[in-house]
Amino acid sequence: MIEFKNFFIDYTKTEFNCPYCQKQYNDKELKYLDKCNKNKTWRTRISCECKEFFYLAIDYSGQPFTYKK
Ligand SMILES: [Zn+2]
Repeated sequence: MIEFKNFFIDYTKTEFNCPYCQKQYNDKELKYLDKCNKNKTWRTRISCECKEFFYLAIDYSGQPFTYKK
């Protein structure tokens, strides 16, 4: 459990997809999600192997989601 602003979230969902090539990531080690947590913007940029990059962010319910810039 980590503190997320004024409430707590539990990373129950660690899977997300690249919005470009749909490659599935499973961030079991919280490599990316932890980065989101540490960033004040609650998001992190990920370079995908398809040579695009996208953002991973955590929504208000603690679910990871991705979006294109
Ligand atoms: Zn990709």
